[in-house]
Amino acid sequence: MRPTQITRATVEPFNIALPRPFETAAARRTAAHNVLLTLELAGGAQGTGEVAPAPHVTGEDQADTLRRLEAFAGALVGQDVARYRALSEAFRRAYPEAPAARAGLESALLDAYCRHLGVPLFHFLGGATAELRTDVTVPIVAPAEAEEVARQAVAQGFTDLKVKVGAGNHDFERTLAVARAAPGVPIRLDGNQGFTPEGAVAFLRRVLDAGVTVALYEQPVPREDLAGMRFVRERVSVPVAADESVIHPEDAYRVAQAGAADVVNLKLMKSGVLGALAIAGLCRAAGLRLMLGCMLESRLGISVAAHLAAGLGGFDFLDLDGHLLTGDTCASGGFSQTGSRLSLSPDLPGHAATRV
Ligand SMILES: [Mg+2]
Repeated sequence: MRPTQITRATVEPFNIALPRPFETAAARRTAAHNVLLTLELAGGAQGTGEVAPAPHVTGEDQADTLRRLEAFAGALVGQDVARYRALSEAFRRAYPEAPAARAGLESALLDAYCRHLGVPLFHFLGGATAELRTDVTVPIVAPAEAEEVARQAVAQGFTDLKVKVGAGNHDFERTLAVARAAPGVPIRLDGNQGFTPEGAVAFLRRVLDAGVTVALYEQPVPREDLAGMRFVRERVSVPVAADESVIHPEDAYRVAQAGAADVVNLKLMKSGVLGALAIAGLCRAAGLRLMLGCMLESRLGISVAAHLAAGLGGFDFLDLDGHLLTGDTCASGGFSQTGSRLSLSPDLPGHAATRV
């Protein structure tokens, strides 16, 4: 038996109560209903992958994910993790509409393989850098609470903030409250599909006229309205990012063709790890800048995203804060963090995160 052969695959629910509700224009969450897949290899290495399904984005939930991964787990035993692309493709053929589950599977395969090899995942993916800079997100909360969240973030050393807007209730006041609490900090606005094209332009102009520095305008209009994204992009000076508009690599191609965005926000839970690599290549060829975001992953899933961004390089915007939004008590390792700065260790194999 080869040491990279899978001898055991375990699937389990991974529920995390959020320290504060997380609300966007698309959803309100009080808990993360995630799933863990653990693989054991004949040579003794283990790999872990986390799935953080976002039903409003890919249609997957915890129950679907458990059922699909449990059904596939039997087929994994006896397979060689070195064939991770072939194994991912077999899962994709069986469940074409389950990118978040596929992300967890690919994370576990790559983690197990890299731990067997004794190589950090970010080195396996190219080792472009070991240092990253992320933002932290202010969800849809009342302006006073937004101000407090932003004040704490600045005190913790965050140099980039993202503010959720597009829900209609106090968007302008919330944005101004954050800007007041974080003077000089560039703000990323995320509409989560909540505006009309005209409304998106008017809102951003109002914010800019108030003197706020806006670094990015993410998914202001519904995902399928690429003409609306382009309408916004042609009327504002701030780069526009496509998030929900891009799930599959062919979506990124359509966004590029339509001139609908300057930036594409990749997420492992939308596209899988290998799909994110494909989209990143496509974006580079099309002159679209790269962002990497997340859903409500714990440190286990965020570590995979951090290793991907560091391995590949070239990500101008990182929004890797799922571990903070979920309280960061369920896992350790993966990376070290001081405020916005994330550092990856060249000495720890795999994604380097461990469940606590
Ligand atoms: Mg977004």
